[in-house]
Amino acid sequence: MEELYIGSHVSFKREEQLLGSVVEALSYGANTFMFYTGAPQNTARASIDLELTSLAHKLMQEKNIDIKKVVVHAPYIINLANDNEKYEFAIRFLKEEIARVEMLGVELLVLHPGSHVGLGCEKGIENIVRALNTVVDSKTNVKICLETMAGKGSECGKTFEEISLILKGVRYPDKIGVCLDTCHIHDAGYCLHNFEEILTQFDNTIGLSKLWVLHMNDSKNEEGSHKDRHENFGFGHIGFENLMNIMNHPKLKGIPKILETPYISDTDNCKEKIYPPYKFEIEMIKNQKLNHNLIEDIRNYYRKA
Ligand code: FE
Ligand code: FE
Ligand code: ZN
Repeated sequence: MEELYIGSHVSFKREEQLLGSVVEALSYGANTFMFYTGAPQNTARASIDLELTSLAHKLMQEKNIDIKKVVVHAPYIINLANDNEKYEFAIRFLKEEIARVEMLGVELLVLHPGSHVGLGCEKGIENIVRALNTVVDSKTNVKICLETMAGKGSECGKTFEEISLILKGVRYPDKIGVCLDTCHIHDAGYCLHNFEEILTQFDNTIGLSKLWVLHMNDSKNEEGSHKDRHENFGFGHIGFENLMNIMNHPKLKGIPKILETPYISDTDNCKEKIYPPYKFEIEMIKNQKLNHNLIEDIRNYYRKA
């Protein structure tokens, strides 16, 4: 049994779909991954190709990727907190997204709770609960993971208490849990030097059994900055040691850990390029040692490629 489930955000392209995502994840040395079923910033979605899906399932089996640890991220423009003219559309889209995720055979769906945009968090949470109770029913096979947010703008879900209020309101609590994003909770003001304390706090307000996905990102900004700008693993204000503490924590063993760290920019032959950092970050995490030359190593590798 593999103990560490480590992966990253990967693409999901129209032509290759899940098969392409698996191939990309394998190229990073990952044993799990997360993807959007289309562009994260819009809701245009291709229909799921069953043949590509079954080829992807076969490849996952061959390569020991447990599909139960694979994650889909819902597009972040879906806002369930504000019941404006887009609310009904967001609910309908989320229903369709759940159907797509089920067709792909994936179980975990990460969702941003939403931004109340002036209504206040209490009303925002009320709207989120109502939307989730419309979308999720007894037959839903997907587990929705509400992501902890940085508190940028009017985001709901920036504290464990706010997340817990949502969970308390839902009709099918077994189908709704949490995705903890390290950059987001750091930016929301949780001190990751005291992770043991944070975990206790999480357990007391939400319950550890509700923690289904971890987003393992460093942060470009200081604790409590409410900025939500991710940094490469070990290169930000959280730091390698604190992140590895979470990565290796015995209480978080079976939980998929997903990197959403930024691509590395480069100018090669006068061309602007960006390279995915994940192969090198995953290697470094497995080595349990900070690679001070990570960025240079990534540039050298992809320049030659
Ligand atoms: Fe997210
Ligand atoms: Fe995240
Ligand atoms: Zn973020």
